[in-house]
Amino acid sequence: MTTPDHSSPSHSRDVSPRERVRTELDALRETDRHRRLRDRAEAEVLDFSSNDYLNFSRDPRVVAGAQSALEQFGAGSTASRLVSGSLACHTRFEMELAAWKDCEAALLFGSGYLTALGCVRSFVGQGDVVLADRLSHACLLDAGRGSGARVDRFRHNDLEHLEARLAKHHGKRVLVVTESVFSMDGDLAPIEEIAELVTANPHAMLLVDEAHAAGVFGPGLAHQVDGVDLQMGTLSKSFGSYGGYVGLSADHKDWLVNTSRSLIYTTAPPPASIGAALAGLKILRDEPELGDRLLERAGEFCRKLWEAGFDTLDSDSQIVPLVIGEDGDCLAAAAELKAEGIHVVAIRPPTVPEGTARLRFSITLAHSAEELDRTADTVIRLLQDRYAK
Ligand SMILES: *Cc1c(COP(=O)(O)O)cnc(C)c1O
Repeated sequence: MTTPDHSSPSHSRDVSPRERVRTELDALRETDRHRRLRDRAEAEVLDFSSNDYLNFSRDPRVVAGAQSALEQFGAGSTASRLVSGSLACHTRFEMELAAWKDCEAALLFGSGYLTALGCVRSFVGQGDVVLADRLSHACLLDAGRGSGARVDRFRHNDLEHLEARLAKHHGKRVLVVTESVFSMDGDLAPIEEIAELVTANPHAMLLVDEAHAAGVFGPGLAHQVDGVDLQMGTLSKSFGSYGGYVGLSADHKDWLVNTSRSLIYTTAPPPASIGAALAGLKILRDEPELGDRLLERAGEFCRKLWEAGFDTLDSDSQIVPLVIGEDGDCLAAAAELKAEGIHVVAIRPPTVPEGTARLRFSITLAHSAEELDRTADTVIRLLQDRYAK
């Protein structure tokens, strides 16, 4: 996720685009920040890199939901819904999702990323402000930057700073954006307090990205909170499928259908993805205890690491970071764990602030309590000397 640096010397006009790629890639390969695509970890490895929190992607009921939609509606959605119309699975999913979220309406997008683009850019533009928590996901910041609005950030989960920034932009149209469970720290946003501040400002609206919360924390942390205008999320995490959505008012949905370019100018999500998500939603309604079970196991794992002296930040979810510090140390720690059959991702800047490179354990229901215990023991045995206080 290294963003090309368009101001670097090799970007000057007398360097060809191909030459520039070669030079910058060479430089990147000499750092600990070079990324590459690799094959999936083998089955014997304990995988802590997946967002398949509730293990739905392999659930036979979810797979069957995909298969039946595939057979009924075909492999592709064939066009934008604005052109060819909605398939029955799209309409049904939106109705059921809106009911689960207690929203007037819901709207599907091709992915979570496209949902963020579509929502942010339809509600703000030139002369307006996107006010984002500093640690907001790249899709929210990208959406803000491309909207023409000014992107301003408030300190992570800092209500006083948010209030001050809101006051500074008084009179302007402001879209406040935050995640509810933060993807790299695993901590929770104070959604009710944020919603109160936003509601007090008649020119402000609030978007909450529930990508890591919906399905784990029931319908999400913004569920039934007054003053949350847009509750967006993804079908690629707890739902085990692919696609994005937003829960919102009927008027806001109508507005997005008429203005949102990432909805209008792209093909509707494929039936199999929506069939899978419908089956996942049914399980979420029938077995709401799944999320609690996951949080309990993750909480136990996090407590063990924290008691051993590791810095797990303020994690209070199924995402458990273990801060190492330097990029190279973090990569080495991940390699040591890999040799013991534990696959955990080393997250480095620019995804996280400088000096806070970390191992990010993503706990799912595929991990048994016993496997989590064993993993914590291995982490303590290998890394406590060097990285615990
Ligand atoms: C994963 C994620 C997204 C993107 O969702 P996709 O459906 O994978 O595009 C958006 N926001 C947050 C906070 C995420 O973690």
